[in-house]
Amino acid sequence: MKLDVNVLRYLSKDDFRVLTAVEMGMRNHEIVPSELVERIASLRHGGTYKVLKNLLKYKLLHHDSSKYDGFRLTYLGYDFLAIKTLVNRGVFVAVGRQIGVGKESDIFEVAKEDGTVLAMKLHRLGRISFRSVKSKRDYLRHRSSYNWLYLSRLAAVKEFAFMKALEEHGFPVPNAVDSNRHCVIMSLVEGYPLVQVKQLQNPDVVFETIIGLVVRLAEHGLIHCDFNEFNIMINDDEKVTMIDFPQMVSVSHRNAQMYFDRDVECVFKFFRKRFNLSFHETVDDENDLEIDNDESARPCFSSISKGAGSLDKELAASGFTRKEQEDIEKFIEGGLEEDADSGDEEAESSKLNEMDTNAVEHLRISVEETLSGDENVDLQGNHEACLDDVSEN
Ligand code: ADP
Ligand code: MG
Repeated sequence: MKLDVNVLRYLSKDDFRVLTAVEMGMRNHEIVPSELVERIASLRHGGTYKVLKNLLKYKLLHHDSSKYDGFRLTYLGYDFLAIKTLVNRGVFVAVGRQIGVGKESDIFEVAKEDGTVLAMKLHRLGRISFRSVKSKRDYLRHRSSYNWLYLSRLAAVKEFAFMKALEEHGFPVPNAVDSNRHCVIMSLVEGYPLVQVKQLQNPDVVFETIIGLVVRLAEHGLIHCDFNEFNIMINDDEKVTMIDFPQMVSVSHRNAQMYFDRDVECVFKFFRKRFNLSFHETVDDENDLEIDNDESARPCFSSISKGAGSLDKELAASGFTRKEQEDIEKFIEGGLEEDADSGDEEAESSKLNEMDTNAVEHLRISVEETLSGDENVDLQGNHEACLDDVSEN
């Protein structure tokens, strides 16, 4: 994806006012009608149409006239809102090259005023992930495009909270610096994802460290759920850092045992294949089966989780409403469409589109901050305009 932040320089207060107006309109409109954008933005001297044209030119908005004339934010438009807010806060001053493309994110370098380089993760939930193309596509069919804004923001909120808590408990994770909308700013990890590493000085030490992390997480009440060679970074001194937390769950999750075993298995499998570590397993050639003779080598979930700490509960209580937590879990597990018939799915869809007061408040604060310095920030009344309009569609 191209992220030309030079465009930021050319955007005026009015441009951002109109961009946030579209964002606000998207709380309850898949496509925000032009008149509603105009009403929410309420530019002092008019001219919303011209501004919309400018935003279209920079691909910050998408124009849709299939049902009625209206606009929606593009990923880039949403990126710019978050970047502008974080720049306003003084978190960083420049955006550099892209350093990662995840399943559902884009990662860029950003620089602070003093030259320190940080990592910026822009969540893109709803972008079709190649791992589960079918389930995600089915899942998204009934979802309005508001959902990707909402879900990507939830992913960022969750990732930031988990990263911070894990850091405080001494886990090797990036330093969680700040977050806004779907964007998380963290320290830049020196090194490479383990998947790129062909050789290690001490593969068995690294293996023990990594398995130790899965165990220690569970002892704190948490399971990573995507613990593999793509989400483990390693530097030249073979120091390990784990990343990527939006899918983490509590050890009391109904599928906890399965997630834990899967994380453990990923590590065993990778080290067996890549570094030829043996775990006292024999291969039954006839049936093409691997038989694990040494179950004792594997950490046992039930005994660890029995005495687990309560970081999972602390995190559940912080920042997230129950609905938000359920929404993101549903999305990430992608299991919704499997156990719902289409009728239920419609119901789930409308539930997902409903923002609770927490999300509305978050949007209000974000918009105000994005427009800080705009003497005419009062968008509170326009929120009401945006609500009134629901009945018209
Ligand atoms: P996703 O959730 O999309 O998988 P990740 O958080 O795993 O996203 O990041 C994708 C890739 O970006 C990683 O595999 C890694 O190469 C790079 N990356 C992510 N975070 C950092 C960081 N803090 N420092 C350096 N590289 C990073
Ligand atoms: Mg990842």
